[in-house]
Amino acid sequence: MGGSLKLFTVRGIDIRLHLTFPLILLWAAFQFGTASGAGMAGAVFGVTAVSFLFVLITLHELGHSFAAQRYGVPVKQIVLSPIGGVAQLMRMPEKPIEEFVIAIAGPAVNFVIAVLMWGAASLFDINLINTRAILLGYGGVSFAALFTYIFVYNIFLALFNLLPAFPMDGGRIFRSLLAMRLEYVRATKIAATVGRGVAILMGIYGLFNGGFFMVLIAVFIYTGATAEERMVKLRGSLRGYTVQQSYSPSVYQLSPYHNLQHVVDFMLMSGQSSFPVSQGELYVGFLTRERLEQALKTRGRHTWISDVMRRDVRPVGLTTDIYAVQQRLDAERLEALPVVENGRCLGIITRRNIQELYRFSRIAPGSLPKTQSA
Ligand SMILES: [Zn+2]
Repeated sequence: MGGSLKLFTVRGIDIRLHLTFPLILLWAAFQFGTASGAGMAGAVFGVTAVSFLFVLITLHELGHSFAAQRYGVPVKQIVLSPIGGVAQLMRMPEKPIEEFVIAIAGPAVNFVIAVLMWGAASLFDINLINTRAILLGYGGVSFAALFTYIFVYNIFLALFNLLPAFPMDGGRIFRSLLAMRLEYVRATKIAATVGRGVAILMGIYGLFNGGFFMVLIAVFIYTGATAEERMVKLRGSLRGYTVQQSYSPSVYQLSPYHNLQHVVDFMLMSGQSSFPVSQGELYVGFLTRERLEQALKTRGRHTWISDVMRRDVRPVGLTTDIYAVQQRLDAERLEALPVVENGRCLGIITRRNIQELYRFSRIAPGSLPKTQSA
């Protein structure tokens, strides 16, 4: 993820701060400093409290991450931004029990922390003060206030994440429970519908009570539920198809010794926007539209392809699963990937190819023979 700063690494997982993160600290300093009327002390209190919240969020995300690692799912990183944290799993397990454990591990961490804090409060005689006053910013500046704030926020974090709506943990827990009895796509459809219902209720409540933030979260949940449903449907429809059934074999291939002007001429004529580069019979690189435009601006039209082509784009083979291709296109933000077998480039597979395959698989499944059994 661009624009983030690595803090440290736990079990191979980078914990990163998004560059917009300081905004939330500024907001906290302002909010607690001026709104509570406590001035400088309030500002320090606010920054301290919010920093602790992000420690809680990090622990929550580590809960998901460790559970994922237990099932052999690699975790790329955890990114903390002003709106919360995200543990980026390299893939989502489809076994309901695995998804269930991974999803519930986050809120479970918060419940453990709540119990520990409750124990500490009674052991060290810390008075949990009026939570309502704290949430409204009238709690004053004291250790008890800080402790209560963290305690309350921790519980809020767990409960909020347990809302039965994607992309919250509760949505995944709900789906995994349904998927233990139902087919995965159908389970997702039901969970997404319930999630949208929750979002609509939240939105209406927020509108009538002036809860702007709540309306924002409602929109976030609504779109999250829809995105999850679409993704699972797509995956379901593409299952069993491989690159072989949908790539474009008749594409123009460049030589490393063509120049950029040559590519521009060809692009205008053909509409092709991603080019495999082959030397003799051998595939050597890939020129994306983005790289082409950037090179034209910085190096000029007489530059050789070999100087600017990408060598880091991993080709796919004829038997690569289409859904895996789609995931790579999204993750690497590419329009197409080269199709290579035994060092020779056979063509490219584009987003458009996949969209067409998806469309035909829905309107006329019989028109597309599957090579592998689904
Ligand atoms: Zn979570």
